[in-house]
Amino acid sequence: MDFDFTPEQIAIRKHMREFAEREIAPKAQMNDRECKFDWEITKKIFKEGFLGCPVPEKYGGLGLDYVAYGLMTEEVNRVCSSTRTLFSVQTSLVALTILRWGTEEQKKHLLPKLCTGEFIGCYGLTEPEAGSDAANQQTKAIKDGDDYLLSGQKTWISCGSIATHALVFATIDPKLGHKGITCFIVDTKSKGFTARAIKGKLGLRSSDTSELFLDEVRVPKENILGEVGQGFKIAMSALDNGRFSVAAGAVGLVQGCIDACTEYAMQRKTFGEPIGKHQQVQAMIADMVCDAEAGRLLYLRAAHLKNKDVRNTLETSLAKLFCGEAANRAGHNAVQIFGGYGYSDEYPVERYFRDAKVLNIYEGTREIQRIIIAQDALGIRSANGDANKGVSNKTALAAVH
Ligand SMILES: Cc1cc2nc3c(=O)[nH]c(=O)nc-3n(C[C@H](O)[C@H](O)[C@H](O)COP(=O)(O)OP(=O)(O)OC[C@H]3O[C@@H](n4cnc5c(N)ncnc54)[C@H](O)[C@@H]3O)c2cc1C
Repeated sequence: MDFDFTPEQIAIRKHMREFAEREIAPKAQMNDRECKFDWEITKKIFKEGFLGCPVPEKYGGLGLDYVAYGLMTEEVNRVCSSTRTLFSVQTSLVALTILRWGTEEQKKHLLPKLCTGEFIGCYGLTEPEAGSDAANQQTKAIKDGDDYLLSGQKTWISCGSIATHALVFATIDPKLGHKGITCFIVDTKSKGFTARAIKGKLGLRSSDTSELFLDEVRVPKENILGEVGQGFKIAMSALDNGRFSVAAGAVGLVQGCIDACTEYAMQRKTFGEPIGKHQQVQAMIADMVCDAEAGRLLYLRAAHLKNKDVRNTLETSLAKLFCGEAANRAGHNAVQIFGGYGYSDEYPVERYFRDAKVLNIYEGTREIQRIIIAQDALGIRSANGDANKGVSNKTALAAVH
């Protein structure tokens, strides 16, 4: 076991921290207040090539490993969860999914432009009646000659209104259950495709989250990702990468809380001394530090397995669950340490507190992660796929999203 980072990983982390401090942090509070997706920051992120971090160089990426990608994601989320969501969607859910399942032609066409920002992707799995129960897809794909006509509705889709391309999961026949689900790469300029932003979110206010409406959207069969009926497997494999970036991002949020709280606690005085000298405040800071260190080890272990191309659903779920919970504990305690000042957006901890909540909702709620982990521990269903000990298909599938 080697706990050291390579010089390349250290360099990319340093570079990302400097970029995040310089370009993202100063605008994060105002963007959050104005619920503004910041194109200026986004363009700079693309220009640096950050969103192609784990994509091979031959497809226009930086060709770095998952440890580097995790560290980079952590650094972004240390200052802004909304900006990190762009990484989770563009890189993890879309680019890496196309890299794994796409034809050579699809990869050559899409990946270089996804890395430069000429194309922006979104991942359309969730529907009004299909969240945790993702296999219950109602969006239909009807064959029409060599094309498919897609009709239905998606909801809570990050980057849905800004995307040029959407991965849309739809069923060719609801009677087939998860075996009918197919993944389509949909050009969002297609006739019949509309998106509408969701307003009034608790957090992630400068991230675009939208509903998608599809009304007989014509998609050529060449735009199927993988094969007909493989969509559910593709959706779940995408989540293995998405959850990884959420876990790394959550550790970044905890680190953001630590950095804000340690500075404030040594300045703010009560009873004649800095609040950082009071043991109850120290206890909250100690808990955050433990959470950050433990969470970092969990996501880095998942990164290590990803680098070796070993199935890592369990390790990624463990990281996603723990880090999401840790971020919520840290956000909660950070506001507490700031007292009344933590209750206003004058300081960033109020935003961290609100932004933490989604970490145990999206990309599989914390309850769904617990199902995956517990079923694996109980021997009911191996998360990494080597055994399915007699549970009904439906129960087994319910556990994966
Ligand atoms: C800001 C934001 C961005 C998002 N971005 C995307 C995106 O880009 N793409 C996308 O496809 N989706 C996205 N989502 C959707 C997200 O993945 C879903 O909200 C999530 O999977 C939960 O589904 P649901 O909201 O339908 O809740 P439900 O599935 O209705 O769950 C409601 C509650 O019941 C619990 N529950 C459900 N089933 C079980 C069970 N079997 N056992 C125990 N508890 C259970 C859940 O854990 C939850 O607490 C996003 C959501 C948000 C809030």
